[in-house]
Amino acid sequence: MDDIIALCKRRGFIYPSSEIYGGFSGVYDYGHYGTLLKNNIQDAWWREMVLYRKDVIGLDSGIFMHPTTWKASGHVDSFSDPQIDCRNCKNRMRADHYLEKFGHDVDRVPLAEVNKILDELRTQKKLHCDKCGSENLTEARDFNLLVQSNFGSPIGKLQDLPGKDVVYPRGETCQGIYLNYKNVIDSMRIKPPFGIAQVGKAFRNEIVVKQFIFRTREFEQMEMQYFLHPNDMDQKFEYWKEERMNWYLRILQIPKEKLRFKKHEKLVHYAKAAYDIQYQFTCLDKYDEVEGIHQRGDWDLSRHGQFSGQKLDYLNPVTKERFIPHIMETSVGLNRLVLMILDMAYSKEDLGGGKNRVVLKLPTRIAPVKVAIFPLQKNEKLRKLAEDLYINMRGLFVTEFDDAGNIGKMYRRQDEIGTPFCVTIDYQSLEDQTVTVRERDSMKQERIHLDKISAYMKKKLSI
Ligand code: ATP
Repeated sequence: MDDIIALCKRRGFIYPSSEIYGGFSGVYDYGHYGTLLKNNIQDAWWREMVLYRKDVIGLDSGIFMHPTTWKASGHVDSFSDPQIDCRNCKNRMRADHYLEKFGHDVDRVPLAEVNKILDELRTQKKLHCDKCGSENLTEARDFNLLVQSNFGSPIGKLQDLPGKDVVYPRGETCQGIYLNYKNVIDSMRIKPPFGIAQVGKAFRNEIVVKQFIFRTREFEQMEMQYFLHPNDMDQKFEYWKEERMNWYLRILQIPKEKLRFKKHEKLVHYAKAAYDIQYQFTCLDKYDEVEGIHQRGDWDLSRHGQFSGQKLDYLNPVTKERFIPHIMETSVGLNRLVLMILDMAYSKEDLGGGKNRVVLKLPTRIAPVKVAIFPLQKNEKLRKLAEDLYINMRGLFVTEFDDAGNIGKMYRRQDEIGTPFCVTIDYQSLEDQTVTVRERDSMKQERIHLDKISAYMKKKLSI
């Protein structure tokens, strides 16, 4: 993980937040290449999930919603994780994660039972703070993950705000989809089964945020909520599980053996089935969740119908059947995918003779920069030809021009940001209009005529 974090900072992918003020945990800032990489992953998701489908449409709802949304969804009362605190060093720990080390799975287990297990460990002198080692730990208590704000309120201090007026930046993006279900049905000439997809920020007061961008307090989700008749659920659920897994294999080119489904054994009371897609993170040394695929039953529309007093059912115009659509969701963390891609792509290679290189072997579609163009040396004629090529190429692909170092350094920099092709203009180029194209992974070089370079790149980059 340290290597990936260092590369991200060194090469302008991801910076810690508010560094000049000593940092701000749980938040990260995306630099030039990190933004390009994240946008490419998002684009690859949006294309497959929205643009290439007739049954899914897009949405971009607000981060803030009416506060009753979160009461109806159940988040105000039960969106919490069990927290234990160290009285000695004030370290906070998630009891469920802590107990995993002892082979206990306490996901969705009542707090009293969690505390019973912790008590047993305490008696056996096995309960220690994972930071300072102290045995002086509190009991587990529920810690609500919703972030609170006084958004839109004339009352300046949050503690003076009546509970009903506390406004929450969304804890998950899908609630904005449920609130717009009726608008979409009324305006988009669409009927169940259909999906609504959106990408956006979500905020959670995570107890522990240790694993770089894997778990942060501000993050982005890409969610698709599929509304259907309950009889269609099982078949559609299997269909979407397969679709989503194929997206990782085909579009992100993740090796099959690095991915698996994990079935949820314990379900929330309204859910009928739930699976996670897990990726084997080398940097975390374990499989962990990147996406959840869940059957949510009619919970969401029933609850919002009940709390808003609006009818959120659907009348089938042919059969005249009236029903509340059930919902199946696919929910991915975009930042987790960035970490997954970096984890997959990062490699250190021994080049022999005491030399090595770091290279990001990113799929070409996801790579932030597709082509880099360099003049071999600081020479006006070489520079002019390289710049002309850059101007031609930048309208076709994300292209960089670089002449700020020797060729070795320029290759190293592009390898570290994962650029699939580097094009060098040298003295021979001035004579015969050919350039050297170097491929990132094999480092093989070939000479291509300038007239053919755009077509060559289009073919290689499959664009
Ligand atoms: P976890 O068990 O890791 O806390 P979750 O099951 O609560 O995640 P969901 O609410 O199902 O997660 O959210 C869907 C997806 O959003 C997750 O699969 C994950 O990729 C992403 N996600 C959730 N919480 C975070 C977070 N704090 N930071 C980054 N991504 C997150």
